[in-house]
Amino acid sequence: MEIVVNDVTRKNFITMWPSMMLAIRNSHFLALDLELSGLGDRKQLSASSIDVRYSALCNIARSRSVISFGLACFCQGATDEDSHERKYNVQVFNLFLLCDDDYIVESQALQFLVKHGFDFNKQYAFGIPYKRGIQEKVDQHPSIRRLFLELILAKVPLIFHNGFIDLVFMYQCFYSDLPNSLQTFVADIFEMFQSGIHDTKYISEYQIRENLSFLEYLFRKCQHSNESMKSAGKRYVSVQSKALHGVGTEEELVSCVLPGITITKTLKNYLPQLCKSFQERGYCQTESSCAKIHSVDLIIISEETNQSKKSRKRSRKRRRQSESIVANGDAQNSGSFQEENSNGIIASKKAKSENQEELVRDSKSETIAEDSFIEQILPRMKGHRAGFDAFMTGYCFACYQTELQDSKHTNIMESRNKIYLTAKDMPLTILKSHFVKTSSNHRTIMADLLK
Ligand SMILES: [Zn+2]
Repeated sequence: MEIVVNDVTRKNFITMWPSMMLAIRNSHFLALDLELSGLGDRKQLSASSIDVRYSALCNIARSRSVISFGLACFCQGATDEDSHERKYNVQVFNLFLLCDDDYIVESQALQFLVKHGFDFNKQYAFGIPYKRGIQEKVDQHPSIRRLFLELILAKVPLIFHNGFIDLVFMYQCFYSDLPNSLQTFVADIFEMFQSGIHDTKYISEYQIRENLSFLEYLFRKCQHSNESMKSAGKRYVSVQSKALHGVGTEEELVSCVLPGITITKTLKNYLPQLCKSFQERGYCQTESSCAKIHSVDLIIISEETNQSKKSRKRSRKRRRQSESIVANGDAQNSGSFQEENSNGIIASKKAKSENQEELVRDSKSETIAEDSFIEQILPRMKGHRAGFDAFMTGYCFACYQTELQDSKHTNIMESRNKIYLTAKDMPLTILKSHFVKTSSNHRTIMADLLK
């Protein structure tokens, strides 16, 4: 599987606009992801009261900004009646943004993004400008605000991974000044996105019941289960991502091939080196100095290895279960917001050399230099985080939708308008209430938009 990620900056925004509009208007669902200049005090964001969380988030969204916006447009292809293949055409855009108002850049966020190859030179030099909060009338001309309004007009489901923070930031940066109460915010969002919002973190925890729920892990698990479905003759998802032919495209091919059998066998030797913190929480706070390996593929291999030993070693399994209860508790207390921001990325850039092409193939004669092995098979994705994260989110949603079609207990519509809340047993539900009015700013914009 190879994905084209299109970088969009001030330089090519106008020439890319028609392609983006076409992709949005043809889509069956849209997956989104943001990179932010900071998140403020993490403790406030996991306060037990959701209203307290919301007002803390409002302050943060008014003082920080969105620096990158990832949009993945999924268009479902025609399906033959007797085929099990569910085809999607996907177009991925990675937009660099530059807020015109002063905003806070947190050193923690900065360091993290630099470490993951985020191009601040590109962002400052060529970021697409925008202003936060209330704005005069927005016209048809290409702008980030117009792009956001097009998401409303598209009337298709929006897909997020852990979407509460993203929704609040989008509202403040691209739409209007945030309402003071959470109830009003929810009422506005409900009216804006009438085809509903889905959150892959919610689906994975409450409907799929995965062991872990950070994005790269879910993406890889979806790839694996999708492969098994295909070989078992069941419904599966296939994705096509074609390069755009046009002026000013800045695209990069991202390859996300699953490791083959030979590679998996070799990887098993590295199991003792898997970082425990990364395995339990999806992030390692000391990753830059930690000598252990931070690899989602290795976590999955570790789970499979444990799985096959399960029947023989029941007492061990019980011990692991109690361990994992402790680990999960720990992860929640330390605030798993960081989850989204510091996990290992498993997608590798397109292998250009013949050598690397060899690596992903399963050949018996394959020999790999030990020291460079991990480097080559699991390099870090650089610089396209928002775009590629949006793609992974949409891919997971497509797989879950297909998988849950066969479930007797649940279906994808049960996750509609349920937004994951960190360290809570309940999601935030986006619903219409007869007792709560929408905000007047929102009503003005919508009246203008739907004229
Ligand atoms: Zn580590």
